[in-house]
Amino acid sequence: MPPLSPADLAALREALLGRRAQLSAEISDKLTDARSERIGTDAVASTDGGDRAAISSAGDLDIAQARRDADELQEIEGAEERINARTYGQCIDCSEDIPIARLRAYPAAARCNQCQQAAEKARH
Ligand SMILES: [Zn+2]
Repeated sequence: MPPLSPADLAALREALLGRRAQLSAEISDKLTDARSERIGTDAVASTDGGDRAAISSAGDLDIAQARRDADELQEIEGAEERINARTYGQCIDCSEDIPIARLRAYPAAARCNQCQQAAEKARH
């Protein structure tokens, strides 16, 4: 596999920056939503407990989503560090080149398909 061309690298870096900005905005949105829903919960609690559970679980969902976004943000920051260290595009486990198609689909990818699958299996 040839190494990433400067044009490929520039496009992927651009994609990472865009995704990073999107995620940061999403996270602060979600946390703001969750917070305002919490305030709504208190208002409901003071009158009637009817929809309380539904409302607070909506807030929890937002927080779970924000946490996933934060994880992805961390992966993106890792990818940016690898770009700076010139190891971007190499699998962090086996050091093989990650296929360009995989990087285009998921620019923050830290592992080749095989190692990613192994890592996911190990996690479950
Ligand atoms: Zn690998």
